[in-house]
Amino acid sequence: AAPVALISGMSSMSNSHIIVKSGPTIEKLANAKTFAFDKTGTLTKNQLVIDQIVPVSDKITKEQLQSLAASVEQQSTHIIASSLVKVTDKKSIKPAHNIKETTGQGVEGTVGDHVIKVGRTEFTDPNNKMNINFGSTTITISIDGKYAGYITFKDQIRPETPSTLVRLRRQGAKHIMMLTGDHKDAADKIGKAAGVDDIRYQLLPDEKIKAIRNVKKENRPVVMTGDGINDAPSLTAADVGIAMGAKGASAASESADAVIMVDDLSKINDAVAISKHTMKVAN
Ligand code: ADP
Ligand code: MG
Repeated sequence: AAPVALISGMSSMSNSHIIVKSGPTIEKLANAKTFAFDKTGTLTKNQLVIDQIVPVSDKITKEQLQSLAASVEQQSTHIIASSLVKVTDKKSIKPAHNIKETTGQGVEGTVGDHVIKVGRTEFTDPNNKMNINFGSTTITISIDGKYAGYITFKDQIRPETPSTLVRLRRQGAKHIMMLTGDHKDAADKIGKAAGVDDIRYQLLPDEKIKAIRNVKKENRPVVMTGDGINDAPSLTAADVGIAMGAKGASAASESADAVIMVDDLSKINDAVAISKHTMKVAN
């Protein structure tokens, strides 16, 4: 397409609060048939609500379990971390040291003289002694390698998600995928309500990238949309990476080809519509 048409398309995008970094992105968006989405924070609201707090025994209270978890999550930008810290009594949050976050797994740190791990079961309990099957988004907590309990969250679908995917199909999408690190039950619940036709769950960050690379072999261009915080590598792997950037998701915004500046998934439809219009005018 003529560069001038693409520049005009980029300007329409920006009027719609979508920042597109280069002209060829518009051409790819206009032709895309495969759209992949991250679950948490992208198809669902960018704020999780605590559902249950379940300590392993009466040696530790719900409040203690929550504040220990929040103490090691203070610096994490993961949606689970920010949702937890936000609702935890600030006075109960203790200083944590030697914080180490493993993307798609969890966080560990030292609080007092105890090593606290917070994250998926495989991370907090490598020997897999817990063997619990969770139906919702969950973090497990261990203290000095011993299982201490878990916290479950309600992950609520965005109100605009189902209609956005319906419209995306009318706009020509043939394959709508969801890629998530979460468990099968949690993934199925959201994926079905959203109208996703290809639900991929319990993926490690590397497996998300592999999934993107594989669909690229079938039908390009592939568009991947993520809320950003830990989705940067899969955004890079796609032909077009789109970051939901309203929450200042700077890490992902850098690796993205386009950034949606408002907290509204239906902007994807606007991006596709503007791209198709731009290409029609350009040719
Ligand atoms: P999603 O694909 O749904 O965005 P992630 O791949 O980021 O999920 O994470 C998968 C799982 O790993 C989460 O459901 C959670 O159990 C665990 N996890 C990842 N990062 C963190 C963190 N910072 N704190 C606690 N748990 C985490
Ligand atoms: Mg996410």
